[in-house]
Amino acid sequence: MSHRITLIPGDGIGPEVSLAARRCIDATGVKIEWEEAIAGQAALDKTGKLLPDSVLDSIRKNKIALKGPMVTPIGGGFRSVNVAIRHALDLYACVRPSKTYVGVKSNYKDIDLVMIRENSEDLYAGIEFEEGKPETKDLISQIEKYSKKKIRPDSGISIKPISKFATERIVRFAFEYALAFKRKKVTIITKANIMKFTDGLFLNTAREVAKEYEGRVAFDEALVDNMSMQLVQKPHNYDVLVTENLYGDILSDLCAGLIGGLGIAPGANIGNGIAVFEAVHGSAPKYTGMNKVNPTAMILSGVLLLKYIKEEKAALALENAVKEIISEGKFVTYDFKPSPNDPSAVGTIEMTDAIIKKIR
Ligand code: NAD
Repeated sequence: MSHRITLIPGDGIGPEVSLAARRCIDATGVKIEWEEAIAGQAALDKTGKLLPDSVLDSIRKNKIALKGPMVTPIGGGFRSVNVAIRHALDLYACVRPSKTYVGVKSNYKDIDLVMIRENSEDLYAGIEFEEGKPETKDLISQIEKYSKKKIRPDSGISIKPISKFATERIVRFAFEYALAFKRKKVTIITKANIMKFTDGLFLNTAREVAKEYEGRVAFDEALVDNMSMQLVQKPHNYDVLVTENLYGDILSDLCAGLIGGLGIAPGANIGNGIAVFEAVHGSAPKYTGMNKVNPTAMILSGVLLLKYIKEEKAALALENAVKEIISEGKFVTYDFKPSPNDPSAVGTIEMTDAIIKKIR
């Protein structure tokens, strides 16, 4: 059966790494009809819109997309095109596995963590009030009236909504993920001791959901500050992590650091029957068109995509090919070499070619 998948090349290094992932996925032999859709700076230049409706229509129709990283140009009318896509399609679960591969420069061995980040709420909801605007002053006076607390008049305000609905669904997603992928434990991360009505609600709701999985998946809880230290000191004590949007964003970069950096950290944004796969990293504009950056994060996002469409054999073959190339350490980009200026580093295309040759 052929799969139809939307391909959004993205900006900066996006087109290079998404082409690498596409070539690797095609080389597994899985039949895919790619439908290219342009968003981000390239779309703005061509159509005057950062996120043309046709892009969202294409993903809604095909239900799956592979997406390169995108910049959000200042003054483009969006906080972030990436966040806008997640909100428009209600891709509420961001899944970011962090796994060490032999041969990657890292202080840690045998890391195997999965961050499940809530994608629709929190300070990322985009509800913000600019300093000095009449509505901000009005809001400040309303908040002062209800909270009996002072807010400085020259403040900007960002709102942090956390609902029972969104918490229940993300925590249930994390436990179902743990069951599906035979993981042992889910850790719920909040700052519930301080933000009682948002993080406290998240934690209480999460505890209720966790009860449904008693005896099948273990669970524990941690405060986000302590978790940051624990992940650096004892990452092997953890398995699946579930948390709110902002903490998930920060901790998943921390987890990428544990496994050798952003060049190797894949991701997926998943909703009900719809999913967009993308690397954790951004568009690294300074490397645009240089055939320099590491394609691994996008290729491993392709592995997640293949698993999602139930092409497990192809997913395994591609992941094994990536593993082999990394452990050989020969056809790898600068960031996998002992020093960034190592003359033996190869480019994005050459590393991709080497991976393709290893697919069996
Ligand atoms: P970035 O991830 O683009 O780059 C930070 C640094 O990480 C780079 O300078 C580079 O040294 C390294 N790096 C990133 N990807 C790499 C790769 N594949 N191989 C080797 N090294 C790599 O983060 P940034 O500079 O903060 O953001 C640049 C732009 O990307 C911003 O406009 C930001 O908004 C956007 N962004 C987009 C996404 C997304 O599309 N999902 C995610 C994060 C950032």
